[in-house]
Amino acid sequence: MNSYFQIRGDSIECKLCPHNCKIGSGKTGICGVRKNSGEKIELLTYGVTTGIASDPIEKKPLYHFFPGKRILSIGSYGCNISCDFCQNSSISQVIPETFKPNTSAENIVNAAVTAQDNIGIAFTYNEPVIWYEFIRDISVRIKHEGLHTALISNGFMNSEPLIEMFDFMDAFNIDLKAFNTTFYRKLTGSDIEPVKSSLKQIARAGKHLEITSLIIPGQNDSLKDMELQSEWIAGELGKGIPLHLSRYFPRHLRKDQPTSELTLHKLFDIASKKLDYVYLGNLTTETGQTTFCPSCHSKVSQRSGYNVTHPTLDENGKCKVCGNLIYKYF
Ligand code: SF4
Repeated sequence: MNSYFQIRGDSIECKLCPHNCKIGSGKTGICGVRKNSGEKIELLTYGVTTGIASDPIEKKPLYHFFPGKRILSIGSYGCNISCDFCQNSSISQVIPETFKPNTSAENIVNAAVTAQDNIGIAFTYNEPVIWYEFIRDISVRIKHEGLHTALISNGFMNSEPLIEMFDFMDAFNIDLKAFNTTFYRKLTGSDIEPVKSSLKQIARAGKHLEITSLIIPGQNDSLKDMELQSEWIAGELGKGIPLHLSRYFPRHLRKDQPTSELTLHKLFDIASKKLDYVYLGNLTTETGQTTFCPSCHSKVSQRSGYNVTHPTLDENGKCKVCGNLIYKYF
Protein backbone atom coordinates (compact mmCIF):
# COMPACT_ATOMS: atom_id res chain seq x y z
CA MET A 1 0.00 0.00 0.00
CA ASN A 2 1.57 3.27 -1.17
CA SER A 3 1.11 6.71 0.39
CA TYR A 4 2.07 8.75 -2.70
CA PHE A 5 4.35 11.39 -1.24
CA GLN A 6 8.05 12.14 -1.17
CA ILE A 7 9.89 14.20 1.44
CA ARG A 8 12.00 16.94 -0.16
CA GLY A 9 13.82 18.89 2.55
CA ASP A 10 11.25 20.97 4.47
CA SER A 11 8.53 20.34 1.93
CA ILE A 12 6.68 17.18 0.95
CA GLU A 13 5.71 16.44 -2.63
CA CYS A 14 2.24 14.94 -3.03
CA LYS A 15 2.27 12.43 -5.90
CA LEU A 16 -1.44 11.73 -6.10
CA CYS A 17 -2.33 14.01 -8.99
CA PRO A 18 -0.41 15.74 -11.81
CA HIS A 19 -0.12 19.00 -9.85
CA ASN A 20 2.54 17.19 -7.78
CA CYS A 21 2.26 19.95 -5.15
CA LYS A 22 5.39 20.66 -3.15
CA ILE A 23 3.80 21.47 0.17
CA GLY A 24 5.58 23.50 2.84
CA SER A 25 5.39 22.51 6.52
CA GLY A 26 1.87 22.99 7.93
CA LYS A 27 0.47 23.98 4.51
CA THR A 28 -1.99 22.22 2.21
CA GLY A 29 -1.78 21.49 -1.52
CA ILE A 30 -3.96 22.98 -4.27
CA CYS A 31 -6.92 20.74 -3.30
CA GLY A 32 -6.91 22.20 0.22
CA VAL A 33 -7.39 18.85 1.98
CA ARG A 34 -3.91 17.27 1.90
CA LYS A 35 -1.51 18.76 4.43
CA ASN A 36 2.21 18.56 5.13
CA SER A 37 2.05 17.51 8.79
CA GLY A 38 5.81 17.21 9.24
CA GLU A 39 6.57 13.64 8.26
CA LYS A 40 3.83 12.76 5.85
CA ILE A 41 0.83 13.99 3.91
CA GLU A 42 -2.18 14.05 6.17
CA LEU A 43 -5.64 13.68 4.64
CA LEU A 44 -7.67 16.31 6.51
CA THR A 45 -10.98 14.94 5.21
CA TYR A 46 -10.45 11.35 6.39
CA GLY A 47 -13.87 10.43 7.80
CA VAL A 48 -15.40 13.77 6.76
CA THR A 49 -18.48 13.44 4.56
CA THR A 50 -20.72 16.14 3.11
CA GLY A 51 -23.37 13.79 1.78
CA ILE A 52 -24.47 10.18 1.90
CA ALA A 53 -27.50 8.98 -0.06
CA SER A 54 -28.89 5.91 -1.77
CA ASP A 55 -29.12 7.02 -5.42
CA PRO A 56 -30.33 5.36 -8.59
CA ILE A 57 -27.13 4.32 -10.36
CA GLU A 58 -28.34 6.18 -13.46
CA LYS A 59 -27.85 9.42 -11.50
CA LYS A 60 -24.02 9.01 -11.40
CA PRO A 61 -24.43 8.66 -14.49
CA LEU A 62 -23.71 4.96 -15.00
CA TYR A 63 -26.14 3.43 -17.51
CA HIS A 64 -24.34 0.15 -18.22
CA PHE A 65 -23.34 -0.91 -14.69
CA PHE A 66 -26.20 -2.74 -12.96
CA PRO A 67 -28.87 -0.62 -14.72
CA GLY A 68 -31.93 0.13 -12.62
CA LYS A 69 -30.19 -0.65 -9.31
CA ARG A 70 -29.30 1.66 -6.42
CA ILE A 71 -25.87 2.60 -5.08
CA LEU A 72 -24.92 4.26 -1.79
CA SER A 73 -23.23 7.51 -2.78
CA ILE A 74 -20.85 9.52 -0.63
CA GLY A 75 -18.74 12.64 -1.00
CA SER A 76 -16.60 15.05 0.97
CA TYR A 77 -14.96 18.47 0.40
CA GLY A 78 -12.52 19.81 -2.16
CA CYS A 79 -11.25 19.31 -5.68
CA ASN A 80 -7.85 19.29 -7.36
CA ILE A 81 -9.03 21.37 -10.33
CA SER A 82 -10.96 24.64 -10.43
CA CYS A 83 -13.66 24.59 -13.13
CA ASP A 84 -15.31 28.00 -13.36
CA PHE A 85 -18.53 26.14 -14.31
CA CYS A 86 -18.40 23.72 -11.34
CA GLN A 87 -21.87 22.27 -10.77
CA ASN A 88 -21.07 21.36 -7.13
CA SER A 89 -18.99 24.35 -6.02
CA SER A 90 -20.46 24.62 -2.50
CA ILE A 91 -18.50 21.50 -1.48
CA SER A 92 -15.81 21.35 -4.19
CA GLN A 93 -14.55 24.91 -4.47
CA VAL A 94 -15.51 26.25 -1.04
CA ILE A 95 -14.06 24.33 1.88
CA PRO A 96 -14.11 25.01 5.62
CA GLU A 97 -11.02 26.16 7.53
CA THR A 98 -11.16 23.11 9.79
CA PHE A 99 -12.57 19.64 9.28
CA LYS A 100 -14.35 17.45 11.80
CA PRO A 101 -14.66 13.71 11.05
CA ASN A 102 -18.32 12.64 11.17
CA THR A 103 -18.03 8.96 10.26
CA SER A 104 -15.65 6.02 9.82
CA ALA A 105 -14.89 3.52 7.06
CA GLU A 106 -16.67 0.85 9.15
CA ASN A 107 -19.83 2.96 9.45
CA ILE A 108 -19.94 3.55 5.70
CA VAL A 109 -19.43 -0.14 4.96
CA ASN A 110 -22.19 -1.08 7.43
CA ALA A 111 -24.52 1.44 5.80
CA ALA A 112 -23.79 -0.07 2.37
CA VAL A 113 -24.26 -3.64 3.55
CA THR A 114 -27.59 -2.90 5.25
CA ALA A 115 -29.05 -0.52 2.60
CA GLN A 116 -31.92 -2.06 0.64
CA ASP A 117 -31.30 -3.20 -2.96
CA ASN A 118 -27.83 -1.69 -2.81
CA ILE A 119 -25.08 -2.87 -5.17
CA GLY A 120 -22.23 -1.02 -3.42
CA ILE A 121 -20.65 2.41 -2.99
CA ALA A 122 -20.10 5.31 -5.38
CA PHE A 123 -17.55 8.00 -4.51
CA THR A 124 -18.99 11.16 -6.00
CA TYR A 125 -20.30 14.72 -5.36
CA ASN A 126 -16.82 16.30 -4.95
CA GLU A 127 -13.56 14.95 -6.47
CA PRO A 128 -12.89 11.55 -4.82
CA VAL A 129 -9.27 11.17 -5.97
CA ILE A 130 -8.10 13.64 -3.29
CA TRP A 131 -9.90 11.47 -0.69
CA TYR A 132 -7.70 8.53 -1.66
CA GLU A 133 -6.87 6.91 1.69
CA PHE A 134 -10.48 6.99 2.88
CA ILE A 135 -11.92 5.56 -0.34
CA ARG A 136 -9.24 2.85 -0.34
CA ASP A 137 -10.07 1.83 3.26
CA ILE A 138 -13.80 1.68 2.48
CA SER A 139 -13.45 -0.02 -0.91
CA VAL A 140 -11.20 -2.84 0.27
CA ARG A 141 -13.78 -3.68 2.98
CA ILE A 142 -16.71 -3.31 0.57
CA LYS A 143 -15.13 -5.79 -1.87
CA HIS A 144 -14.79 -8.30 0.98
CA GLU A 145 -18.55 -7.95 1.52
CA GLY A 146 -19.15 -8.89 -2.12
CA LEU A 147 -20.39 -5.42 -3.08
CA HIS A 148 -19.17 -3.13 -5.88
CA THR A 149 -17.38 0.21 -6.06
CA ALA A 150 -17.60 3.15 -8.47
CA LEU A 151 -15.55 6.32 -8.84
CA ILE A 152 -17.10 9.44 -10.39
CA SER A 153 -14.08 11.58 -11.14
CA ASN A 154 -12.38 14.21 -13.28
CA GLY A 155 -9.66 11.64 -14.04
CA PHE A 156 -6.88 14.14 -13.24
CA MET A 157 -4.62 11.77 -11.33
CA ASN A 158 -1.23 10.14 -11.60
CA SER A 159 -0.79 6.65 -13.03
CA GLU A 160 0.55 4.91 -9.95
CA PRO A 161 -2.40 5.58 -7.63
CA LEU A 162 -4.79 4.84 -10.49
CA ILE A 163 -3.19 1.46 -11.12
CA GLU A 164 -3.39 0.63 -7.41
CA MET A 165 -7.06 1.63 -7.53
CA PHE A 166 -7.77 -1.15 -10.04
CA ASP A 167 -7.44 -3.60 -7.12
CA PHE A 168 -10.49 -2.15 -5.38
CA MET A 169 -12.53 -0.08 -7.89
CA ASP A 170 -14.93 -1.73 -10.35
CA ALA A 171 -16.47 1.10 -12.32
CA PHE A 172 -15.46 4.59 -13.40
CA ASN A 173 -17.34 7.53 -14.82
CA ILE A 174 -14.70 10.00 -15.92
CA ASP A 175 -15.37 13.55 -17.11
CA LEU A 176 -13.86 14.41 -20.45
CA LYS A 177 -14.67 18.07 -20.04
CA ALA A 178 -13.76 19.04 -23.62
CA PHE A 179 -11.61 17.70 -26.39
CA ASN A 180 -9.58 20.83 -26.31
CA THR A 181 -6.33 21.75 -24.56
CA THR A 182 -7.14 25.47 -24.27
CA PHE A 183 -10.49 24.74 -22.62
CA TYR A 184 -8.80 22.57 -19.98
CA ARG A 185 -6.16 25.21 -19.21
CA LYS A 186 -8.47 28.23 -19.15
CA LEU A 187 -11.67 26.90 -17.65
CA THR A 188 -10.45 24.11 -15.37
CA GLY A 189 -6.91 25.04 -14.32
CA SER A 190 -5.72 21.59 -15.38
CA ASP A 191 -4.55 19.69 -18.44
CA ILE A 192 -6.31 17.24 -20.75
CA GLU A 193 -3.37 14.87 -21.31
CA PRO A 194 -3.37 13.19 -17.86
CA VAL A 195 -7.15 12.72 -18.21
CA LYS A 196 -6.74 11.02 -21.60
CA SER A 197 -4.00 8.87 -20.08
CA SER A 198 -6.29 7.84 -17.17
CA LEU A 199 -9.05 6.93 -19.64
CA LYS A 200 -6.68 4.73 -21.65
CA GLN A 201 -5.38 2.98 -18.51
CA ILE A 202 -8.90 2.29 -17.21
CA ALA A 203 -10.04 0.91 -20.57
CA ARG A 204 -6.91 -1.24 -20.96
CA ALA A 205 -7.31 -2.61 -17.44
CA GLY A 206 -10.76 -3.89 -18.52
CA LYS A 207 -12.54 -1.86 -15.85
CA HIS A 208 -16.08 -0.66 -16.47
CA LEU A 209 -15.83 2.83 -17.98
CA GLU A 210 -18.34 5.50 -18.96
CA ILE A 211 -17.53 9.09 -19.93
CA THR A 212 -19.38 12.34 -19.27
CA SER A 213 -18.97 15.62 -21.15
CA LEU A 214 -20.83 18.67 -19.84
CA ILE A 215 -21.54 20.83 -22.90
CA ILE A 216 -21.22 24.60 -22.35
CA PRO A 217 -22.45 26.94 -25.11
CA GLY A 218 -19.60 28.57 -27.02
CA GLN A 219 -16.92 26.80 -24.94
CA ASN A 220 -16.89 23.11 -25.82
CA ASP A 221 -19.83 22.69 -28.22
CA SER A 222 -17.78 22.60 -31.44
CA LEU A 223 -19.09 19.95 -33.83
CA LYS A 224 -15.54 19.36 -35.08
CA ASP A 225 -14.22 18.75 -31.56
CA MET A 226 -17.05 16.27 -30.94
CA GLU A 227 -16.13 14.46 -34.15
CA LEU A 228 -12.52 14.24 -32.95
CA GLN A 229 -13.54 13.25 -29.41
CA SER A 230 -15.82 10.42 -30.53
CA GLU A 231 -13.22 9.21 -33.03
CA TRP A 232 -10.59 9.18 -30.26
CA ILE A 233 -12.86 7.31 -27.83
CA ALA A 234 -13.74 4.71 -30.47
CA GLY A 235 -10.11 4.26 -31.53
CA GLU A 236 -8.34 4.37 -28.16
CA LEU A 237 -10.94 3.09 -25.70
CA GLY A 238 -13.52 1.19 -27.74
CA LYS A 239 -16.75 2.14 -29.50
CA GLY A 240 -18.76 0.36 -26.80
CA ILE A 241 -17.78 2.92 -24.12
CA PRO A 242 -20.95 4.87 -23.20
CA LEU A 243 -20.69 8.66 -23.64
CA HIS A 244 -23.02 10.98 -21.71
CA LEU A 245 -23.49 14.47 -23.15
CA SER A 246 -24.87 16.55 -20.35
CA ARG A 247 -26.69 19.87 -20.50
CA TYR A 248 -24.97 22.74 -18.71
CA PHE A 249 -26.77 25.17 -16.40
CA PRO A 250 -25.11 28.35 -15.10
CA ARG A 251 -23.36 27.66 -11.79
CA HIS A 252 -20.41 28.98 -9.78
CA LEU A 253 -18.53 31.69 -11.77
CA ARG A 254 -19.99 31.06 -15.23
CA LYS A 255 -23.20 32.79 -16.23
CA ASP A 256 -23.82 31.57 -19.82
CA GLN A 257 -27.33 30.48 -20.73
CA PRO A 258 -28.09 26.74 -20.45
CA THR A 259 -27.05 24.70 -23.49
CA SER A 260 -29.74 24.59 -26.17
CA GLU A 261 -31.37 21.22 -26.79
CA LEU A 262 -30.68 21.67 -30.52
CA THR A 263 -26.91 21.85 -29.87
CA LEU A 264 -27.04 18.70 -27.75
CA HIS A 265 -28.96 16.86 -30.45
CA LYS A 266 -26.41 17.86 -33.11
CA LEU A 267 -23.52 16.66 -30.92
CA PHE A 268 -25.45 13.47 -30.13
CA ASP A 269 -25.85 12.74 -33.87
CA ILE A 270 -22.13 13.28 -34.51
CA ALA A 271 -20.95 11.11 -31.59
CA SER A 272 -23.48 8.39 -32.48
CA LYS A 273 -21.76 7.90 -35.85
CA LYS A 274 -18.65 6.56 -34.06
CA LEU A 275 -19.95 5.21 -30.74
CA ASP A 276 -22.50 2.51 -29.92
CA TYR A 277 -23.97 4.17 -26.84
CA VAL A 278 -24.45 7.95 -26.63
CA TYR A 279 -26.83 9.48 -24.09
CA LEU A 280 -28.14 12.96 -23.31
CA GLY A 281 -28.35 14.13 -19.69
CA ASN A 282 -30.00 16.99 -17.75
CA LEU A 283 -32.87 17.25 -20.26
CA THR A 284 -36.53 17.19 -19.33
CA THR A 285 -37.44 14.99 -22.31
CA GLU A 286 -36.63 11.31 -22.79
CA THR A 287 -34.62 11.94 -25.95
CA GLY A 288 -31.20 10.30 -25.82
CA GLN A 289 -32.23 7.99 -22.98
CA THR A 290 -32.75 4.76 -24.90
CA THR A 291 -30.26 1.93 -25.37
CA PHE A 292 -30.41 0.30 -28.78
CA CYS A 293 -28.67 -2.98 -29.54
CA PRO A 294 -25.70 -2.00 -31.74
CA SER A 295 -26.06 -5.27 -33.62
CA CYS A 296 -29.78 -5.54 -34.53
CA HIS A 297 -30.97 -2.05 -33.40
CA SER A 298 -33.70 -3.39 -31.11
CA LYS A 299 -34.72 -1.08 -28.29
CA VAL A 300 -33.17 -2.98 -25.35
CA SER A 301 -33.58 -0.41 -22.54
CA GLN A 302 -35.79 2.60 -22.09
CA ARG A 303 -35.38 5.26 -19.41
CA SER A 304 -37.85 7.70 -17.97
CA GLY A 305 -36.35 9.82 -15.23
CA TYR A 306 -34.45 7.22 -13.24
CA ASN A 307 -36.83 4.38 -14.12
CA VAL A 308 -35.41 1.78 -16.48
CA THR A 309 -37.27 -0.92 -18.36
CA HIS A 310 -35.73 -3.51 -20.65
CA PRO A 311 -38.21 -4.38 -23.43
CA THR A 312 -35.93 -6.77 -25.32
CA LEU A 313 -33.27 -7.88 -22.85
CA ASP A 314 -32.83 -11.30 -21.26
CA GLU A 315 -31.86 -11.96 -17.63
CA ASN A 316 -28.14 -12.09 -18.55
CA GLY A 317 -28.07 -8.59 -20.07
CA LYS A 318 -28.19 -9.88 -23.66
CA CYS A 319 -30.39 -8.66 -26.49
CA LYS A 320 -33.32 -11.08 -26.76
CA VAL A 321 -33.54 -10.61 -30.50
CA CYS A 322 -29.94 -11.30 -31.59
CA GLY A 323 -28.15 -12.48 -28.42
CA ASN A 324 -25.65 -9.57 -28.38
CA LEU A 325 -24.23 -8.87 -24.88
CA ILE A 326 -25.31 -5.33 -23.89
CA TYR A 327 -24.51 -5.22 -20.15
CA LYS A 328 -21.61 -7.14 -18.65
CA TYR A 329 -22.83 -6.06 -15.18
CA PHE A 330 -26.58 -6.67 -14.96
S1 SF4 B 1 -3.96 15.67 -4.60
FE1 SF4 B 1 -4.00 17.78 -3.81
S2 SF4 B 1 -2.07 18.05 -2.71
FE2 SF4 B 1 -1.87 16.21 -3.98
S3 SF4 B 1 -0.88 16.92 -5.87
FE3 SF4 B 1 -3.10 16.95 -6.23
S4 SF4 B 1 -3.78 19.02 -5.66
FE4 SF4 B 1 -1.72 18.74 -4.82
